[in-house]
Order: sequence, then structure tokens, then C-alpha cells
Amino acid sequence: MEPHLVTYLVIIVICVIMSAYFSATETAFSTFNKIRVKTMAEKGNKKAALALKLEDNYDSLISTILIGNNIVNILAASLGTLFFTGILASNADLAATVSTVVLTVVVLVFGEISPKTIAKNMPEKFVLFSAPIINFIRIILTPFNFVFKAWQTLLAKIFKSSDDKGMTEEELISIIEEAEEEGGIDEEESSLIKSAIEFGDLEVSDIFTPRRDITALPADADKATIAKTFAESGYSRIPIYEGDLDNVIGILYYKDFYTKAFGKSTPITDIIKPVMFVATTQQVNELMKELQDKQLHLAVVTDEYGSTAGIVTLEDILEEIVGEIWDEHDEVVEEIKEIGEKEYIVSGKANTDKLFDLLDITTDEESDLVTINGWAMEALGRLPEVGDVFEEHGLKVEVLELDGRRIENVHVTDLREDEADEDENEEKDKDSSDGEQQTFFKN
Ligand code: ATP
Repeated sequence: MEPHLVTYLVIIVICVIMSAYFSATETAFSTFNKIRVKTMAEKGNKKAALALKLEDNYDSLISTILIGNNIVNILAASLGTLFFTGILASNADLAATVSTVVLTVVVLVFGEISPKTIAKNMPEKFVLFSAPIINFIRIILTPFNFVFKAWQTLLAKIFKSSDDKGMTEEELISIIEEAEEEGGIDEEESSLIKSAIEFGDLEVSDIFTPRRDITALPADADKATIAKTFAESGYSRIPIYEGDLDNVIGILYYKDFYTKAFGKSTPITDIIKPVMFVATTQQVNELMKELQDKQLHLAVVTDEYGSTAGIVTLEDILEEIVGEIWDEHDEVVEEIKEIGEKEYIVSGKANTDKLFDLLDITTDEESDLVTINGWAMEALGRLPEVGDVFEEHGLKVEVLELDGRRIENVHVTDLREDEADEDENEEKDKDSSDGEQQTFFKN
């Protein structure tokens, strides 16, 4: 083989290697785990820091890769034609055809498919290896990048999508779930962040303590009764009303009572603190700000008719972010207790969302009924009785105990099949059910 043909061949091989490098770099940079590389960067890995910097400037990175890849591919194709023309000197047409076929196959297999597959399987490793090289090429190609950047900006302006509203809450939550699955954050951190994000959607009606659970006293209650009520309930704040609970006139603080009124002639109406009223529909994040601004811990919740629907405290709000908080005097009550495989005892006061979240049930319906008690009443269409059973969302719910007209607790059995069984029985399912089924029984 003539020496210049050998030179062509060597350059073609180098071009294919470079093409493989650019393809692998593109795949690695678009699939690598940012959290993992960020952790490496924080631990002092310089290549990881450089990779993140390059990824931050993705437009410039991608145009460097595109320019580089195109240059080497076109150069390989041109030299391929010269190489095969040199070998098949007698037949120029055949040389061009052979060159096109051979180089297309070689570039596709070795310059695109193989490197992309390899990079996809170890994107972080490849990103670290590639970062210094691609950065060097990026610097060399700066003038080209500048021109392409201007072109990209122009195109972006012309084709700007008007419905690009940034990241949605759902997208943010999926990112957190992904980070949890990939081990970037643990389950508790993930649930804390998700609660904080979802916090903005909560209304007072989702979290308040209902009217019938309020410990309150009339304004004319005697001091012994008040002292007994504080001692028995363990609460630090007691709403004081005139006439009935719909007319709360103030909040009596434990500390004030014992320092200013107990054993003295001071009437409690002189020491009660002003009461803050909130609507059931008020956003919880707004309420929290208002309570903080007014330095209050408790607000009385009013329904649409102006009656007292319940009370809400800062602790109720914080529990939505950090989970259940048990005070020293609180009786620890597990609202959802797992008693066996797919079997739970659930308090009538528990939030349906909490149960559905725990069991990974998604419901389309928007319902105002947030407690198990409300759900049962809606499903049964009447006041619940012990022994009532209904099935909804794949759960069988049996009323176990009542407290007056309200459910104390229910027995929930998860009737849904596991995913593995589901696959097996997919065919059967198709025939048997067309969506949600509701079945009611009465013992
Ligand atoms: P603190 O912890 O400051 O002593 P607390 O224990 O009296 O206050 P919180 O911790 O604010 O009360 O609230 C705990 C739970 O008790 C919340 O669910 C709240 O709604 C409820 N709660 C507070 N006061 C009363 C009350 N007077 N009657 C009924 N429920 C109350």
C-alpha cells in the first residue's frame, strides 16, 4: 500500500475514535446522575466539578460535541473516498460506492451505536473521564460556539413556546422520588421535602381538630372546674365561650390562669387573650404566617355558617411537615396500625389521604371528606353502624367501634393483588372490572 494511503487510513481510524468519543460524551452528559456527581464534587473531585460546570452550560457543550462530531465524520468520509479511490484506481464509481457503504457501517457501529451503549451503562465514569478533554475542545472551538450560540438564541426567540411555565410541583416531586430511588437522599429526607412542597396545597379543613373534640369552658365556669379541666385535658390553652361554643370570646392560657386568677378574685374574662378566627377554607401556609405574626398558637375554625367548626394550632400545622408530634402529656395514638399482612386498624379521625398515600392509592375524585369517618358516611350514604362494611379503591372497610355517632375505628383489608400477581391475572382483570366498583354490605 502506498504511504499516503496508509496516512489516510490512520487519520480515518483517528476520526472514528474521535466520533466514538463525541457520541459517548453526548450520551453520558445527558444521562449522568447529577446528585452523585455533585456529591463527588463536594468531596473535592475536580473532574466532577468541571463536569457539573460543563453541564450547567449545556448549550455550549452540545454545540461543541456537534461541531466536533461533524468535523470528524465528514473528514472520515472524505478521506474514505480518497483511500478507496487509491485502492480501486481503475474504477472511481465503485470506489465512491464502496467508501460510502464501508464508512457508513464503520461510523454507525464504532462511532455511534457502540460508544453510546457503553456510555449509557456508566455515564458518571465516562463524564469524569470526558470532562477535561471536551472542555479543552470547547475552548478551541470557542469562535464557532459563539456563532452557533447566536444562531441558537435567534431560533429560540422565533420558536419560543408560550406554554413553558417552568417546573411544576408534580415534576419537582418526581425528581425527589428519583433522588430517593437512586440513593441521593434517604426516605425521611424525601418525605420531609415532599411534605414541605405539598404544604402549600393544604387547607385548614384538612388539619383542624373538630368541634366535638374541643375542650372549652363557659366564661362563668368556676376556678375549681377550670383547674380540673386543665389538669385532665393536659391542654395549655382553653377556648372560653359565652352561651355556647359558637360564641368563643377568648383563649385562657394555663400560665395566666395559675399566675393571675387561681386562688384570686380576678375573673377569667379579665385575663383571657383575644381569639383569632379562621375559615375552614383558609390556606394552611397563610394561617401559619398569620399565627407567627400575631404570636399566637391557636385559632378557632369557623364554618360557612359562622359556627365554630373546630380549632387549629401551630402543632397541627407543623405535624403536616414533620409528622406526628407527641407532647409529654399526649396519649400516643397510632392512627393507622398495621395488624397483619394487608390489614390495618384505622382511626375514624385519620385522614383518608394518609391511608391512601400509605397504600399507594391514587384517586381522581376531589372530595371534601377528609377523615375515615367522612369517607364511610359518604360510601354508606348514612350514619355508620358497627359491622357496616363497604369496598372502595380496592379496600374492604369494616366499622369496628363507634363513639356516639362517630366512627372510633375501622378494620381495613387491602384486597388489591400484588404487582406480580396482577401481571399474571391481567387477562382475568380485563373481563371482570370496568373501573371502580363500590359494594355495600350491612351485617
Ligand atoms: P403546648 O404543647 O404548647 O403545651 P398543647 O399541648 O395544649 O400546647 P398543642 O400542642 O398546640 O396543644 O396541640 C396539640 C393537639 O391538641 C392539636 O391537635 C390541637 O388541635 C389539640 N388541642 C390543643 N388545645 C386543645 C383544646 N383546648 N381542645 C381540644 N384540642 C386541643
